[in-house]
Amino acid sequence: MKPLHAAGLLLLPISAAILLNAQPTQAPDHPAVTVHGQTYTPQLILARNMGSDVDQTTAFPPHKIAGNIYYVGTRTLSSFLIVTPQGNILIDSTYERNVPVIEKSVQQLGFKFSDIKILLGSHAHGDHQEGDALVKQKTGAQVMAMAEDIPALKAIKPGGKEHPVDRALHDGDSVSLGGTTLIAHLTPGHIRRCTTWTMKIKEGGKSYNIVINGSLRPPTVLTPAISDELNRSFRVVRSLPCDIQLGDHPAQYNLQTKFAKLKANATNPFVDPAGCNVETDIQEAMFHAILDEQKRE
Ligand SMILES: [Zn+2]
Repeated sequence: MKPLHAAGLLLLPISAAILLNAQPTQAPDHPAVTVHGQTYTPQLILARNMGSDVDQTTAFPPHKIAGNIYYVGTRTLSSFLIVTPQGNILIDSTYERNVPVIEKSVQQLGFKFSDIKILLGSHAHGDHQEGDALVKQKTGAQVMAMAEDIPALKAIKPGGKEHPVDRALHDGDSVSLGGTTLIAHLTPGHIRRCTTWTMKIKEGGKSYNIVINGSLRPPTVLTPAISDELNRSFRVVRSLPCDIQLGDHPAQYNLQTKFAKLKANATNPFVDPAGCNVETDIQEAMFHAILDEQKRE
C-alpha cells in the first residue's frame, strides 16, 4: 500500500478509514503522478479531498485565515465566511446536512448566521452547493452564481427544494459588500463550469491577494472540449496574483498543516505565495498523464 504514504494522507486522523470510505469507483486507479515529491492517483486525490463520511460532516475548528476571511467548513469540505461592516458573504454551503454545522462555526467565531447577505459557490456539485436553499431560507441571502453553472445548480434540489439564484454572474464580474470585492473567474474543466474567486485583504498594514480555487481535478475521460477548458483554466489560475491560496476542499491548500502552525508561528502560515500553484501543479500533471493514457489506448 505504497500510496498510503503519499498525498499527505498520514496527516489525517483516520487515514485507513478514509481510503475505505472514499467514494469507491470501479475504474482502475491510474495513472500515478509524482509532484513535488508526492505520488498521486485519481482515487488518492478523491480520498484526500473527500475523506470519510464523518470528515465531510464534522466541523474543522473554525478560524480566521487572514484579514476578514474565516474558515467555517468541515474537515474536508470548505466553507468561507467573509465579514464586512454591511453583512457577510458565505462561499459554499456544502451538503444541506452541513448547514447547521456551518451555522454553529459562524456563531463560535462570534458572528451571526443571519448576517450572511450574499451566498456564493465554487461549482454545482452537491458537496459544495447542496445547502444553498437552506442557507437562503435561514438568512435571506442573495444567491449569486456563474451563469454557465446555473442549469446544473438548478438540478440540485434537496428534498425537492428549488435551487435559488438571484443574480447570474459572468467571467470577470465583481461582487461587492461593505468594502470587500470578490472577482469571479470562470475556470471550468473539473465540471463544465466552475468558479475561482479572488479578493484582496488587509492585515497588519499589508495587502494580500487571496485566490479561492475551484476544483481543477480532471474527469477520468477527457474530451477535446474539456481538455481545452482545463488548459485555459490552468493558465488563468496561474496568472492570478496570489499570496494566500485556498480551495473548495481544504486538502487543496494543506489546511491541516497550516492550521497546526497557526498558533506556533509569528507569521501567518496561510500567507504562502510559493505554494500558490502546488495544487494546480498536481492537477495539471494528472491531466497530462490521463491525456497520455487516452492517446495510447
Ligand atoms: Zn466537484
